[in-house]
Amino acid sequence: MLTIVDGVIEFFVVVAVALAAVLLSAIDARGFLASAIVGFAIVYGGGLQWFVVVAVFFILGVAFTLYKYGYKRQIGGAQGKGGARNWPHILANGGFASIVAMLNLLAPGSAMGALFLGAISTSAADTAATELGLLSQSRPRLITNPAKVVPPGTSGGVSSLGFVGAAFASLVIGVLAVPLGILPDPYVVVPLCLVGGVFGAVVDSLIGATVQRKGYCVICLKPTEALKHCGEPTVTTDGSPAIENNLVNVMSTMAGGAASLVILWIASAL
Ligand SMILES: [Zn+2]
Repeated sequence: MLTIVDGVIEFFVVVAVALAAVLLSAIDARGFLASAIVGFAIVYGGGLQWFVVVAVFFILGVAFTLYKYGYKRQIGGAQGKGGARNWPHILANGGFASIVAMLNLLAPGSAMGALFLGAISTSAADTAATELGLLSQSRPRLITNPAKVVPPGTSGGVSSLGFVGAAFASLVIGVLAVPLGILPDPYVVVPLCLVGGVFGAVVDSLIGATVQRKGYCVICLKPTEALKHCGEPTVTTDGSPAIENNLVNVMSTMAGGAASLVILWIASAL
């Protein structure tokens, strides 16, 4: 009977956290549904420990998004709608981790834990790098061509402040994951999250600098990577129309998960 009680408790924890996120305007109404789906997949596939990691990533993301939000809006780099994330964004950041959680039901083990931690570290690192990078005093440079200075918020643009943010966010996830016991070997967890998160964020920037769709808003004429801006579809100016920001997030979380899995393999071979 304990498992049914556990299941009910987990159900209400997920709903309560998602509801709190709506009340804090961190997600919109459809984001609630997406968050609940991701949350259930994580909690039933990985347990409450995995869910705590996702919840902390989410809090970290909200904190970085709202940090100096007014200034970021002034320079045109802030997330829209007061920083509220919509459902495609949530599925893009939590989708791969949810699939890993479901696979963990079928074949539980350290490999799934490593893929999960790498994916979440990537999402945390990417969010922190984007939001802190907007505050960089030195202009961001293109990751594929450091000689080229680009406006803050440009896909593929990197700054040392953004890099510090990516490393910091990955470390937070790693330090948190140790006491939660996500992996049996505590010494591998922090380096695994650091490498996975930073690698994933770098992959995100590399895709952003090369094949990611870029466009501009037909209303306010600002360059944007969003498919819609000011309520109108944006015009594609560069990159592949199919590779938009959310797909890039999915690909980078997979890359970060894979990097963490490699670290796990290396550590177990030592
Ligand atoms: Zn616009």
